[in-house]
Amino acid sequence: MNGQLDWADATAYFGNDLEVHRRHLADAGMATHGLLACRFLKGDSSRMMSGDGDHAEQKLIHSKLWTEELARALANWDPRSSPMLILVALNRSPCGDCAHLLASALQRFNNDYSLTTERQHFVLASLGYYHSAKATQHSTRGLPQTFTTDKGMRALKEAGWKLCTLTFDAKTTRRGKELSRYLQKMQKHG
Ligand SMILES: [Zn+2]
Repeated sequence: MNGQLDWADATAYFGNDLEVHRRHLADAGMATHGLLACRFLKGDSSRMMSGDGDHAEQKLIHSKLWTEELARALANWDPRSSPMLILVALNRSPCGDCAHLLASALQRFNNDYSLTTERQHFVLASLGYYHSAKATQHSTRGLPQTFTTDKGMRALKEAGWKLCTLTFDAKTTRRGKELSRYLQKMQKHG
């Protein structure tokens, strides 16, 4: 994967049902579009869940797919089987608040299913680095809410998310290049 995930590889793995999400994920519009895709067993069909809105990530993490189906798959995972790939794809990198939400959601799995989660691939692929022209707003927990933060990205990495840039037809957007540079720097300097 090496810091990038191309859409063609994602559809090859999860199947063509993924295609309906292409249009939304390839466009860094005002709303966040998020997709959660999992395939639990070899030969098993893929499960998908998508969300739109200001903070689509929250819908993914609160979905039954994450809270019930994925939790069950982790609980029943056989160490002899191949690792599962759990993909969260976003049309922009998560804001500080959502990054912490995604990080703690994986951290919960790490606590509940230790030695199991670290054998899986939790991939977070974003189309580009998210800036905001708006002044910083703070959530009720006091975290900056409107754009991607260093702290948020580090929390994701620490929790075990593999962060990468989402490309379409092997093309990286301008914001995507920015994200790639950012991730490389983060990789190098820890
Ligand atoms: Zn958000």
